[in-house]
Amino acid sequence: MSKNLDPKCKQCRRIGEKLFLKGDRCSTPKCALNRRNYPPGAHGPKDSRRKITDYGLQLKEKQKAKKTYNLMEKQFKLTFEKAKKQSGDAGENLFKLLEMRLDNVVYRLGFASSRGQARVLVGHGHFLVNGKKVDIPSYVVKMGDVITIKEKSRKSKQFSALAESLKSAEVPGWMNLDIKNLSGKILHAPSFDEIRTNIDARVIVEFYSR
Ligand code: SF4
Repeated sequence: MSKNLDPKCKQCRRIGEKLFLKGDRCSTPKCALNRRNYPPGAHGPKDSRRKITDYGLQLKEKQKAKKTYNLMEKQFKLTFEKAKKQSGDAGENLFKLLEMRLDNVVYRLGFASSRGQARVLVGHGHFLVNGKKVDIPSYVVKMGDVITIKEKSRKSKQFSALAESLKSAEVPGWMNLDIKNLSGKILHAPSFDEIRTNIDARVIVEFYSR
């Protein structure tokens, strides 16, 4: 599978907003946007003052969603096509599908500090869904699924301090976190309101409808 090799902070600077790609660092003064809030490159400061077209705005919103959820273009477009085929609003369906990916669920439960890290941890086979190992980051969870950390993995350095850090985790209402057992349960599919995104789903639909 192809990987996005573009440095994470540059991706945020290009969009002009925090995409929270680097975990804990993103909430500290070390965030690159605190020091250089303009696009990367020699013309960066000038580019930030340039007027943006409607197409540019649509493209930016799509890129923001794609990078936030750590997907490549092909994968993101396929998810949109799937969302379009479902009944209801395509933009809202898109975000529901993105939220229910296993890597996002692992991140939302607080088992990883970023979606990028969650994707690596899932790929390395550290998680079970309903007791069975699932190492596919794009796996779509469903209501009632229980996600746990593999017994053997719990002893690893990666997860040794997790129970402590989970005490301050802000878990969305559509899932339940069990800190004692290091597991999470999907209570229901998220409603669009519960996703609380600052990305405009409607503009992404416009982008793909051109
Ligand atoms: Fe983006 Fe995080 Fe880098 Fe800040 S620290 S620019 S939010 S990846």
